[in-house]
Formats: sequence, structure tokens, C-alpha cells
Amino acid sequence: LPGRMMDFPLTLTHFLERARTYYPRSEIVSRNPDKSMHRYTYADFYKRTCRLMNALKRLGVKAGDRVATLSWNHYRHLEAYFGIPAMGAVVHTLNLRLHPNDLAYIARHAEDTVVLVDRSLWPLFEKFAAQVPSIRHVIVIPDAGPAPEGTLDYEQLLAAEPETFDFPTLEENSAAMLCYTSGTTGNPKGVLFSHRSITLHTLVCCMKDLTGIGEADSVLPVVPMFHAAAWGLPFDALLTGARMVMPGPHLDPPSLLELMSAEKVTVAGGVPTIWLGILALLDQDPKKWDLSAMRTMLIGGSAAPPAMIDGFRQRHGLEVTHAWGMTEMNPVGTMAKVKQALRHADAKAQLGAQSSQGFALPFVETRVMGEDGKALPWDGATMGELEVRGPWVAGSYYGGEGADRFTADGWFRTGDVVTLDADGYVRICDRSKDVIKSGGEWISSVALENALMSHPAVLEAAVFAGRHARWDERPLAAVVLKPGQAVSKEALTEHLAKQFAKFWLPDDYLFIEQIPRTSTGKFLKTKLREDYGDHLIK
Ligand code: ADP
Repeated sequence: LPGRMMDFPLTLTHFLERARTYYPRSEIVSRNPDKSMHRYTYADFYKRTCRLMNALKRLGVKAGDRVATLSWNHYRHLEAYFGIPAMGAVVHTLNLRLHPNDLAYIARHAEDTVVLVDRSLWPLFEKFAAQVPSIRHVIVIPDAGPAPEGTLDYEQLLAAEPETFDFPTLEENSAAMLCYTSGTTGNPKGVLFSHRSITLHTLVCCMKDLTGIGEADSVLPVVPMFHAAAWGLPFDALLTGARMVMPGPHLDPPSLLELMSAEKVTVAGGVPTIWLGILALLDQDPKKWDLSAMRTMLIGGSAAPPAMIDGFRQRHGLEVTHAWGMTEMNPVGTMAKVKQALRHADAKAQLGAQSSQGFALPFVETRVMGEDGKALPWDGATMGELEVRGPWVAGSYYGGEGADRFTADGWFRTGDVVTLDADGYVRICDRSKDVIKSGGEWISSVALENALMSHPAVLEAAVFAGRHARWDERPLAAVVLKPGQAVSKEALTEHLAKQFAKFWLPDDYLFIEQIPRTSTGKFLKTKLREDYGDHLIK
């Protein structure tokens, strides 16, 4: 028997209309490249977004066309973020940290027809633009000087247009945003979010037990808008009327601390590297910044070390929310909230839950699979590949690559090696390509890294597989020490031996200046293996 309710589409148009109608006074604050601040309201944002949609329409942008952005996090990027999908086109966020050759590959693959580019990023754009024949128009956002010849100036385009727009009726399953995986493991692949997937993801992420974002919040996406849709934070903010604080290009820890303190940020999201830098500064000078407004700091993208989560809480009274996700998941899949049943457990058990990757969001389902394709027990010990399904999990890649990641029975293979415990908490041991296979046994590099990073002398540590004549692979640890600190290899082994079986302990430690990173700030283990993979057989 069919239900009798309206079939009302879940689209971003509603986000915009709602912002204009109910939250016209909510503020969007952005930091410009020269560090001056730009402030305006949702009412201004709405009008300018309409102007942009009119301008793009006049340039011939049609439903389904891919319109790319090459931008930092700021108010004009937000106008494109919402305006392009609300006119029926697809906003494609280009990752400005990629090599020009990768950007050329991605923009060609997406067949972008129009590109919006920050003037400050023009030197990067110039390096690959000629390799993308589909580009018809280039619109320059004048954040650092006027538009170069032969391009369109964003502000001039907007000035010529009306501040209302005749919105088309959109299907909720139509494409809204195209985002490529950062290619940490293999060629970047396109993930095409729909209006519906973004909407449902937003509604769930804002639940009280998850981010709990609401009108009273000031939300700072440190995570770039090109990195998996800034984890949905701009959508969460716009739908709830929250204030948005945009960092522009200033992502160094002192600038961020200053911004969080001055703008009374309540929720901020970024990768562990950013927070490690912030914690180090706070430890040096705890009184310099006022983070008393901060409600929670979202950390994801790679594993947040428990010692960091604990350090924020114990030394600075700051709460961390650890989350796991993937571009393929719009992107949040699990969040590490401590369940009531664990609230009475000891501090160690609570930290254990808080520093896990968390349990699945409503409507996301998880299972852990063995190499033989059989489901493994949720016992907190057996390692296997995490598979997920749900309304904001990719059903296929744009262009059809990577079909082997989708199972015949409708699940997505994440490529993450995990354990699941009886409470549903996921613990990532590795990405399948990084797991260390020593004599047939699996060793979790993430567990070893977390333990190393709890040593007081260690700033960062990445554990990776070194080739070994007898055992095939053995763990090697690349370690960056805190400034002015020293520690012996023996002391590190002793530190780890308290927690791990002997065969898990790294065969050697390499003290280096910096751990190589990907475009989104993750440890680049392929590079470590390239540079030091033969260290044990030389
Ligand atoms: P890429 O696949 O190119 O790195 P994504 O940003 O989509 O791009 O990365 C998703 C991957 O990042 C996950 O599969 C997982 O390996 C890792 N990841 C994300 N969040 C966490 C987390 N909280 N802890 C550990 N790993 C994480």
C-alpha cells in the first residue's frame, strides 16, 4: 500500500531559500589573503548567489554541466558551492594542492566547461589550463588583484545581474557536486554527490549526538572545501543558520588560533596535522588565545592520536570529536561519540572509544569482511576490510572506473583494514595497501603510530612496511621529534613493548625532519616505502 505523503525533493534549493527566509541576519566571515576580514549576512549571500547563477546562465551553463572551482575557503567560494548546484549544474571542487598534471587529468576527466579561480591561485591554474580543452570560460575571483586579460572578472559579472533567480525544479537524485578522491592510493576517482545525498548527510550530521551544529554555532571549516566537501560543514551551517568563519589561505596554527579566538568559533574541523600544530602552540603558551567558546573540534581524514585527544582535554579543557569518512561517503561515515553505557567506564576505556573511528551514523551500515569474502565477527580483534552502504555512499564512480570496489550484493569496499567491536566501534588498523604483512601476520601501523605519538619526545610518527628477506615485510618507524628533544631507539622499543607483542615492534627507527604528506595532509607511505623500503635488506 503506497504511503500518501508528498514526494517533495530534497535539494539544495531549499537550503538557500531557508537561509534567506529564516536566517537573513546570520553572518559569514572570511579572511582575505591580506588578512583583512570580509563580513556579510546570509541575506547578502543569497542575493550574490542569485547574481552568480544568472551570470552562469548567461554564459550558457546548462543542467548537468560541470563548473569547477579552484579556491580557498571563503565567501565567494560558498556562493559557487550553492549557486552552481541550485541552478542544476554540478560544482566540481579542484584540489589546489595537487600537481598541475593531476589537475589537468581531473579537469579533463570531468570535462569542466567553466572554471572559477582565485586570482591568488592564477599561477597554478596557468600551469594546466591549456591541457583542458573543454574549458569555455574562466572567471577570476579578484582576491589578490584584477583578472588577467582574456578572463572574466567575478565581481563585474555579478554586478551586471539581478539579485533574484528563477530556480528550476530539480530532481533530488540529480548530481550536485563532483569531488575527486585525493589519489592517496591510485588515480583520483570522481565521486558525484546528489542533492539527496548531501541533504540526508547534512540532516544526520547535525544531530545532537553527532556534530550537533545549530544556529548558535560559529563553524570554522579548516578542512578545505575541495577536500570531501569540507566534510559537509558549509551545508550543516547554512541549513541550520549557523555563523560561518572561513579561514581563506591562512591555515598555519598561529593564524587559526587567532581566528578561533577572535571570532569565538564553537565548532572547527580539520585533519590531525593541523591539530597537532595547534596543540603544540597551546602547550607553549596556553594563555595567549581564548578558546572558551569552542564546543568541539572535529578531527578526521587520518587517525587522530589518542595522546592528542587526551592532551587537548587534560591540559586545555578542549573536546575533540574523532570522525572517519571518505570522499566516497559524502564524506562522514562514523563518529566517535562515547555511548552512555561507557560513561561509567574508566578513563582509559572512554579514551579508547573516543579515539576509535566511532560507530556508524544513522543510515550507514558497516560490516567487516575476510579475504575469503566472508563476514568476520564484531569482536574488536579480528582484522578485515570495512564495507559500508547507505544513502550517501557512492554507488559507482563518475566515469565508471574502480568497479571492483562495489560488491555484487550492494556494498562499497572501503580499502580500510579495521576491527569492529561488539558496540559497533570501528578501529582502523591501516589502509589495505599500508598494512604490514610480517610472515603472514598482519601488523597495524596505525596502532604503533598512536603509541609512538604518546611518547613525550615524539611529535609525529609514521610506521610502514620495510621489505625483509625472511619475513617479507617488517615494520619500520619514521619519527619526527619535538624541537629540542632526544630519545634513543631502545627507549622507543621499551615504550612500545608495554603494549605490543614482540613481533609487532619496529625493526628500526628513522629519525627524520618531516614526514612526507599527501595533498590533504595524510602521511604519504608510498613515499616512505620508496625512500626507505629497502632499509632492512641493504
Ligand atoms: P584519499 O582516499 O585520496 O586519501 P579521502 O580523503 O577520501 O581521500 O580518504 C579517505 C580515507 O582516509 C579513508 O579510507 C581512511 O583510510 C582515511 N581516514 C579518514 N578518516 C580517518 C580517521 N578518522 N582515522 C583513520 N583514517 C581515516
